Amino acid sequence: MNYQEALSKGIKILKSNKIKSFILDSEILLASSLKLDRARLLLNLNNNIKENQKEIFFNFINRRKKNEPIAYILGFKEFWKNNFKINKSVLIPRPDTEILVDQVLKEIKKNERKQILDIGTGSGCIILSVLKERKNSIGYGIDISKKAINLAKNNAKIQHISNRIKFLHSNIDNYYFGKYDLIVSNPPYIKLSDINVLDKDIKFFEPNLALNGGIDGFSKIRKVIKKSSILVKKKGKLILEIGFNQEINTKKILKTNGFYINRIVKDFSGINRCIVSTKL
Ligand code: GLN
Repeated sequence: MNYQEALSKGIKILKSNKIKSFILDSEILLASSLKLDRARLLLNLNNNIKENQKEIFFNFINRRKKNEPIAYILGFKEFWKNNFKINKSVLIPRPDTEILVDQVLKEIKKNERKQILDIGTGSGCIILSVLKERKNSIGYGIDISKKAINLAKNNAKIQHISNRIKFLHSNIDNYYFGKYDLIVSNPPYIKLSDINVLDKDIKFFEPNLALNGGIDGFSKIRKVIKKSSILVKKKGKLILEIGFNQEINTKKILKTNGFYINRIVKDFSGINRCIVSTKL
């Protein structure tokens, strides 16, 4: 069997299982099984596939056909300027979340030494991306999931920033440590009743803990804002990711907790996705 034949077979399996991006996914999974990049795979379609590579590839295809996301199959996801190790205990980093990183960087000058807290850090993708760009700043990441914290620590090690970051396994309710110049968070904000209508890739594979925003979608947003108003320094910033249609309510909660709204930033589909605010 050559690469082309393996690829066609993979494509056929994914297509018949209604996986939308069946061609691209097959190419990515085959390239990874062969330890090649996609371009090199496509230039060498007549090469023969080895037995062990074939086994790896069809094992990947069998996982993907049951809707397992590519990022979990490969065990990593690209975010901002780096690859992050990913597993099923954390949310897969989203391109829209890069907007948060961008907004945080706008608030901290290159050489400034700021204390930054990331609430619900997951893989650590936000805080680690920020620290890579702001070499004098110090980061703290907390998460209610112990497995997420272990993974985030691992990502810090891989990216050589363990000395400027502390990851702590903690519920936000029990966290009273320190005062921060800036707090960033991408909290779980999906309404409980909306979780069922998410793509299978998401609802069957990504951790409920990372998605579930309670009955009205705001239970974690509320918690994060309330606690941030205690943890942030006066004139410090809170930068939050929010979901579709959550802008008005979030602004209200922010104002009630003593925050001034600086700006709302839209995501790539034009949805209000990020709120930058300042503690008065
Ligand atoms: N901070 C992580 C991210 O943005 C995890 C967020 C979450 O689990 N809700 O990807």
